[in-house]
Amino acid sequence: MCICLYAQQHRTRCIERKIMSTHGKTPTLRVIVDRGRCCGYGLCAQLCPEVYKLDENGLVYVESELIPGGLEEEAREGAAACPAEALVIEAIQS
Ligand code: SF4
Repeated sequence: MCICLYAQQHRTRCIERKIMSTHGKTPTLRVIVDRGRCCGYGLCAQLCPEVYKLDENGLVYVESELIPGGLEEEAREGAAACPAEALVIEAIQS
């Protein structure tokens, strides 16, 4: 496995731990991002900038697929506003 992949996995785990400790609530939702569909309108990032980020090309990305507790409504609104249907919110199975 490439060391870059290890670094990415480590970074993702750290971000997920930070999300849980910062917001205090265990995430109950996650977002599936289909960057291939993203057209870069940026509506999602306007509605929920804590979850949806835009890269240098204006395309969406997330630092973690876990949606921090307390941001569920904003994350849902951002996904619903996407004209390209690039964002899908789903419940985390426990
Ligand atoms: S609203 Fe949809 S198309 Fe626009 S940046 Fe977000 S994911 Fe991409």
